[in-house]
Amino acid sequence: MTEPPEPEIDVNLGAGPEDRPHVTLKDLGAYRDSQFPVWVLDVDHFRIVWANDAAVDLWAAGSAAELMQRDLSLDMTSTIQTRLRNYTADLWKGAHFDEEWTLFPRGMPRTVLGRLRGCLLGDGRMAILCEGQVIKPNDANMLRASQALLYTTMMVTTYAEGGQLTYANPAARRAFAGFDLSAASRFQNPELRAVLKAAPEAAREGIWRSAVITTQGPRIHEVEVRQSFDPVEGRRNFLLTELDVTAQEAVAHELSNLAMRDGLTGLRNRAHLTGAAPDFIANAAQAGQTAGLFLLDVDRFKLVNDSLGHAAGDTLLQEISRRLTEALPGTVLLARLGGDEFCCLLTTGGGEKVLASIASHLLRDMRRPLQIEGNDLSVSVSIGLSIADSGQTTFPDLLHKADLALFDAKAKGGNRLRMFRPELAERNNRFLQLDAELRDALRLGRLELYYQPRISFQTGKIVAAEALIRLNSPTGSQVLPGEFIPIAEATGRIAAIGRWVLAEATRHLVRLRGIGHAINLSVNVSPKQFADPSFLALLRQVRPAIEEVSGEIELEITENVLIENDQRLQRVLAQISRLGYRLAIDDFGTAYSNLASLTRYPISCLKVDRTLVAHKDFRLILTGVMTLARAYGAKIVAEGVETTEQHAWLAENLCDEYQGYLFSGPVPFAELQRMVNSGQ
Ligand code: C2E
Ligand code: MG
Ligand code: MG
Repeated sequence: MTEPPEPEIDVNLGAGPEDRPHVTLKDLGAYRDSQFPVWVLDVDHFRIVWANDAAVDLWAAGSAAELMQRDLSLDMTSTIQTRLRNYTADLWKGAHFDEEWTLFPRGMPRTVLGRLRGCLLGDGRMAILCEGQVIKPNDANMLRASQALLYTTMMVTTYAEGGQLTYANPAARRAFAGFDLSAASRFQNPELRAVLKAAPEAAREGIWRSAVITTQGPRIHEVEVRQSFDPVEGRRNFLLTELDVTAQEAVAHELSNLAMRDGLTGLRNRAHLTGAAPDFIANAAQAGQTAGLFLLDVDRFKLVNDSLGHAAGDTLLQEISRRLTEALPGTVLLARLGGDEFCCLLTTGGGEKVLASIASHLLRDMRRPLQIEGNDLSVSVSIGLSIADSGQTTFPDLLHKADLALFDAKAKGGNRLRMFRPELAERNNRFLQLDAELRDALRLGRLELYYQPRISFQTGKIVAAEALIRLNSPTGSQVLPGEFIPIAEATGRIAAIGRWVLAEATRHLVRLRGIGHAINLSVNVSPKQFADPSFLALLRQVRPAIEEVSGEIELEITENVLIENDQRLQRVLAQISRLGYRLAIDDFGTAYSNLASLTRYPISCLKVDRTLVAHKDFRLILTGVMTLARAYGAKIVAEGVETTEQHAWLAENLCDEYQGYLFSGPVPFAELQRMVNSGQ
């Protein structure tokens, strides 16, 4: 090292302009008597060029002159030397730095809190003015700080460059007693290990979670990494503070598990499925496999719930979930979507044939009899199946298609497997379009009741008429109930439609009776309407008006309503008949009615289904049906009478009334009025 030039401590020399943000030598006089150590360091030579008495003291020098003789570079690492030199550029701009330094005057460590500022030397070079504040080892704060570090449960460690441990507080030592504490082997998180491998000055600061092995076994630690200085060596190091977050991790894991599972069956839920499905489908496509989705729904699940109670319903769902889990390979994604709907995503190398055969196997498997709370049950399910075409299909797409297929399976009576076909989508579009038309029709008065006359065989006169609903489409065409009633039933709009039909038919009945025609009307009632309390309220409300004109409104219900052992529905029917309404069984002869079950209600008439009347062997068939019906004691009405042959045979065999194209199809109310007026 070359001998530095003698510094010029002349206050008049080299003074910079007054507006310079750094001090010049002439300003130093103010510091001479300060109780805080102040000195000027020439960073080109690592010599002190000016020092006050407090600084001479701090540096443990005999005099300022002696201090200025010292070569400080001998006690400084090259990193610190470079750093100090690098400060110069910023000091020219007026910057200052606050740092904690540990000096080693005559080998004794002294910690100083210093502010570094620029000081312009007489020869025009920039030196560093250090204003220090000594932190005495017996400083109360220092004592308390180190005490806190001893007692805290937070683990504090410092690591030197290269991941070598330089300090561990007692909490850290307790946790890692007997283990290798080096950074490379302590943390299992590879990202954190990489951070600690870098040079401290270039390293990323931040918070990581890592699995660690401690004296308590495997734990999860949250590790905060900060850059700091080693107060002894003055080098940059890593300061790590660690917290054991195993409990929080476990709770978080538990919570996410809860959020992703169905509480009743333990299967995955919709949220999990929605999250996991896209990857599942993409992976199948990548592996050249076919992904398929089954949507499985229990047939008549409501019946189990209503008749055996919700606990039995729950048990049934658990049993179904158990059977599904057993029957399907472990690699499937199986979830309960809610209610009685289950969804399964699976892949196969065998294409759609294999998927269809798995689904039909499931269908059979679910039909195995089971016992629930002492009841022998046998349930069936319906399955909608959709297949992803080589990665093109998204999960919502797949689900929607399976849903359409399932809807079709249900509409066809359940207990069947349906694979999605494009026609189902077209049908669905028609469904949506009709639903929208129905909504508007209710609002804009586009529904109309037509009436089909019912004629007595005895008198040949119109004695009643059946109200048959029509939807007058804005395009001018008419939509028939066969098309829109099932849609209204599926969407629930049937409730509003049913109320409208009853109110409208009552109004028409009052009108007909008012002008002296002793005829009755009948309306068709869908089983779904009985679930609507406002329908019952309306039945009660219009009853006096009907009685006042001594008329009757008959409610036509289909046979299956009575066959299904739905106790709630049967209670409602009993209530309706107590109100004074008569019930007619529509489409009689198409289901296997248990006539005994009919005796519970005042059934006023049985309407023999038109398919029986239209049958080529109608004589044979109707003989049987009419014998049954007559034994029951109700009026017999033949539907769909189209030929004189049918008419003659029915008259001869003592059928009471008929309706059909032979006499008239359904006509608008005005036309019905005209017919009754003309006394046909
Ligand atoms: P439904 O109650 O059995 O009504 C008889 C159906 O047979 C009517 O069809 C009628 O037009 C048709 N028909 C009558 N005579 C003949 C015939 O001689 N030959 C043939 N081939 N058909 C004949 P429409 O009006 O299309 O009604 C179909 C079904 O829609 C009805 O069957 C009924 O179940 C339902 N429906 C009609 N109106 C309503 C309503 O207001 N509410 C509810 N829930 N359902 C309704
Ligand atoms: Mg009918
Ligand atoms: Mg009918």
